Amino acid sequence: MRVGIGTDVHPVEAGRECWIAGLLWPGVDGCSGHSDGDVAAHALCDALLTAAGLGDLGAVFGTGRPEWSGASGVALLTEVRRLLTDAGWQVGNAAVQVIGNHPRIGTRRAEAQQVLSDAVGGPVAVSGTTTDGLGLTGRGEGVAAVATALLLPA
Ligand code: MG
Repeated sequence: MRVGIGTDVHPVEAGRECWIAGLLWPGVDGCSGHSDGDVAAHALCDALLTAAGLGDLGAVFGTGRPEWSGASGVALLTEVRRLLTDAGWQVGNAAVQVIGNHPRIGTRRAEAQQVLSDAVGGPVAVSGTTTDGLGLTGRGEGVAAVATALLLPA
């Protein structure tokens, strides 16, 4: 068995579509970046990649693979799953926590868990928390996510 960890942070951009944990959140300002800014999906990708010893998001989807520029978080996770399968791993389970004022993850937890679990081919738990007004997430300047993953030999 192998464990991995991932984190991600993106700035909030007023008026941008919000994609977090594979879901579109109407009425919530989204995250800027050259992708959809899905911090939960990105943290989860890094947790899975590090568990398998396959590097990180920047190494796998970086400048050497421009076709992945702007890809959705779920598309990235689907590709990570393919890489894991090729390397002889399957997802035992994974967990991701979204840190920020919005969106309120608990309101759509089951939906988020289903989308992410389907993408990675194993159970993904999704949680949310705030920082009580402290720091960049507390001021609403950004959204962060932390993820862990456990891989099993396929
Ligand atoms: Mg990111």
